[in-house]
Amino acid sequence: MKEKLDLYIDGQFIEAKNYVPLYSPYSNEKIADVAFANEEETDLAISAAARASKMMAKMPAYERADILENVVTLLKEKADECARLIATESAKPITAAKGEVARTIMTYKFAAEEARRITGETIPMDAAPGGEGRIAFTIREPIGVIGAITPFNFPMNLVAHKVGPAIAAGNAIVLKPAEQTPLSALFLAEIFQKAGLPAGVLNIIPGHGHIAGDRLVQDERVKGITFTGSPPVGKLIKGKAGLKKVTLELGSNSALIVDDGVDVESLIDRAVFGAFANAGQVCISVQRIYVHENLFEQFVKSFSRKAETLVCGDPLDEKTDISALIRAKEADRAIQWIDEAVKQGAKIITGAKREGNILYPTVLTDVSSDAKISCQEAFAPLVMINKVKSVEEAVKLVNDSKYGLQAGIYTNSVHTAFEAASNLQVGGVMINDIPTFRVDHMPYGGVKESGYGREGLKYAIEEMTELKLICFKK
Ligand code: NAD
Repeated sequence: MKEKLDLYIDGQFIEAKNYVPLYSPYSNEKIADVAFANEEETDLAISAAARASKMMAKMPAYERADILENVVTLLKEKADECARLIATESAKPITAAKGEVARTIMTYKFAAEEARRITGETIPMDAAPGGEGRIAFTIREPIGVIGAITPFNFPMNLVAHKVGPAIAAGNAIVLKPAEQTPLSALFLAEIFQKAGLPAGVLNIIPGHGHIAGDRLVQDERVKGITFTGSPPVGKLIKGKAGLKKVTLELGSNSALIVDDGVDVESLIDRAVFGAFANAGQVCISVQRIYVHENLFEQFVKSFSRKAETLVCGDPLDEKTDISALIRAKEADRAIQWIDEAVKQGAKIITGAKREGNILYPTVLTDVSSDAKISCQEAFAPLVMINKVKSVEEAVKLVNDSKYGLQAGIYTNSVHTAFEAASNLQVGGVMINDIPTFRVDHMPYGGVKESGYGREGLKYAIEEMTELKLICFKK
């Protein structure tokens, strides 16, 4: 691993004015010194992208697709190295990091495929009086320069969800990765260079959100912002972005409903995975579970038994299931939230133990609906399990949230499944699965404070293009 990492602007690595030390969230050891872009350096990146966007808009679809296909090939060759970078910078357990790299490859693969099928439609103009004698159709044009701002928790795949569709659609891009996870993002620079992407199309500038990120959001030359991160930052960005297109993929306190009559034992492994993968630092992590009263005792017992088998430790150890939270202050916050919930009557079934920045998988029951663990985003290995009398009651509780990303329901009744699907206020409903389910081409995004706009390659391309109507009078 390089010890000093520069900015990547206009096809070159350039020295920055400021370098910031990057520490491992797990061991607190220094990993590297990373260039953090200031406002002038962010401007340089935007200028490079603005120049490249003109050339990019003329690049034929097959060439854009070929470049993305080359990225897929190169990433496959470097998959293990990518996984180590992710595990080192973010403390994601190495097996999960390998999973993320596999998904990243799929995301670029879908981007390459979608690049070849960006189409419009024919409009029957004579459907309206006065429209006779005309034929019209739509095309999709790239919007120009896209500013991408990404979070720490899927540092490679969530970058791919922005860079992939931006390039597939013929845009240029300035990427500002999260402060803690610049390594895997900068690694892409070399990959895209080797894949044949012309200079200036992809610029990567690690930096502070309020400096480099803010500059991207406010610069007139940037025509679209694609942001994944926390709701407070999303709101701030929306307020400052003016008339730019903005896609916001924000947080959630996702819920799972378990109906009476389902086979509890068959879903425990999946539910535990949903709650504790990446130490709960997943936007669709299972945070709230509402279980029918007839199954409640069995569910809590089996779930917490399974949670106790998870191995906590070094992210680079293949046996590790749960490693450090991204920052010590997140572990402090999680402990405070547990204490608050207990003061309000919650019971700790397992966990609530801390070692360094690792929080052991924690299960609480009888959590009050106004405890932070219930109504805010935990983003830690914390899950609450509450008893309900019916799915109807559970749906009300799920909806009693400012968030609405995805929800899951296990039920044996098709009628109950459809009722719940139509009543749940979320962007996606997973029937007989956890809310954490995602494959990378499906439309993905939230309602309420979970954001708006959709990712998933085809849908992200719609957000990153303008629809143009062309009308011929015969
Ligand atoms: P964060 O909001 O703290 O940071 C995200 C990015 O925003 C970082 O790159 C940061 O530097 C930047 N930023 C911060 N302040 C800024 C500002 N003033 N202007 C512009 N940019 C700014 O989020 P995080 O802690 O990195 O990630 C966790 C959050 O991301 C959680 O809320 C999680 O739910 C959410 N998330 C959502 C999805 C989704 O697809 N819906 C996926 C992953 C994570």
